Amino acid sequence: MSHKLEYCPLCSSSSGNAALLTADGAHYLIDAGAACRTLEKLLKEANCSAAALSGILITHEHTDHCKGAGALSRKYGLPIYASRGTWAAMRPALGELPEANCIAFESGSDFFLDELRVTPFPIPHDAADPVGFAFDLRGVKISSATDMGFMAESVFQAIRGSALVLLESNHDVELLKNGRYPARLKARILGRRGHLSNEACARTVASLAMEGARAFLLGHLSAENNRPELALAASAEALSKLGLQAGADADLLLAGRSAPEKNFVFSY
Ligand SMILES: [Zn+2]
Ligand SMILES: [Zn+2]
Repeated sequence: MSHKLEYCPLCSSSSGNAALLTADGAHYLIDAGAACRTLEKLLKEANCSAAALSGILITHEHTDHCKGAGALSRKYGLPIYASRGTWAAMRPALGELPEANCIAFESGSDFFLDELRVTPFPIPHDAADPVGFAFDLRGVKISSATDMGFMAESVFQAIRGSALVLLESNHDVELLKNGRYPARLKARILGRRGHLSNEACARTVASLAMEGARAFLLGHLSAENNRPELALAASAEALSKLGLQAGADADLLLAGRSAPEKNFVFSY
């Protein structure tokens, strides 16, 4: 049997995150960090519809990842998958939901959605029980890892071998340090449980590229402390040091801040 794994980032920034993953025609929303109506619109722009979804997977309880999950689940009867700790932290914010649609997984333990293997891996971030996801459909793997204070070795192990990786390229360290955020917020973002800088992202892009990865999406950019061209330049430079030209030897794209940019399709 042939297989098809597709990934379409719908929106990605410090103010809202969602992506559409399609495995052999079954659609899953990865994070729901926008209003229900916005998510419906984004899905339509990606040639899908909320009514066609099979479920919603949530990385952690911060609003920019779960804002619309409750309303979307209620409207379309969708199951929501999240780690135990995330459920405990986000349940009150999601409103009334039938128990059957609140599905808890263990961070670090694989589970299957039909033939799709889902690996939720722990990430260093200031949330209750936050995860990134690796998805493997019969040997082809796609990963997303955002909201991380640093690139932990365990995260790298979880995402290596992916055909496509969405990585956080949150801020430019100098823009953040010299910016207008209060000192406490700057310290939080720069801390070990905060967000990944352009430089740290670029180092990871290089490490993954050395192992053969050739498709990178940069996401979760800060509107205040980053600029798209800085994020792209940092990772492009890291690739060029390996003799790889972004756009020719490897795909290096920004995940759209507020609109789907491209649907990545792997058929095999
Ligand atoms: Zn977060
Ligand atoms: Zn976030």
